[in-house]
Amino acid sequence: MTQDTEQLVAGLKAIIRDVQDFPKKGIIFKDITPMLADHAAFSAMIKHFADHFRGHGITKVLGIEARGFLFAGPIAMALGAGIVPVRKKGKLPYKTLSASYALEYGTDTLEMHADAVGPGDKVLIIDDVLATGGTAAAVCELAEKAGSKVAGIAMLIELEFLKGRAKLPAREVHSLIKY
Ligand code: AMP
Repeated sequence: MTQDTEQLVAGLKAIIRDVQDFPKKGIIFKDITPMLADHAAFSAMIKHFADHFRGHGITKVLGIEARGFLFAGPIAMALGAGIVPVRKKGKLPYKTLSASYALEYGTDTLEMHADAVGPGDKVLIIDDVLATGGTAAAVCELAEKAGSKVAGIAMLIELEFLKGRAKLPAREVHSLIKY
């Protein structure tokens, strides 16, 4: 890691807030809203990811509902790519593709418009936190069902103790802050 990146990580760690027992007991929620409200911190973070993935031929940035949307917009603009929202079941108006993944209890389903990406697209998947990796793996499935190639997965925060990368074998996963 370069000195600049180390400084960026230290600054972001200082501003991202831990909220104990949210949304349920035992979870330490990584609250990025203070970073979003700080122009210097947020723009430095966006620049880091745009610089990392520039030149990879990315045509679409897939943002995962809801915090991933906030990152997908500015990163896609910086890379000259389009933005694609990946949403919880039932939110998108047109024809969708869907992928389900296991939660602690039950399953969850994510959807993407069927025509949002296709063969010839190279996609970057983005979200705020990589935890167990189930969400990101489901989005890879969606991107590939639509015929596109997953060029990378960008996560602001990686909770390494949850071993999310194990669900993303052979993927190019780039996270900035690791806990
Ligand atoms: P997972 O599928 O387990 O990798 O969970 C990833 C999704 O859950 C992401 O959309 C995150 O925003 C959210 N998430 C999981 N754990 C946390 C956490 N400790 N703090 C904030 N968000 C989390």
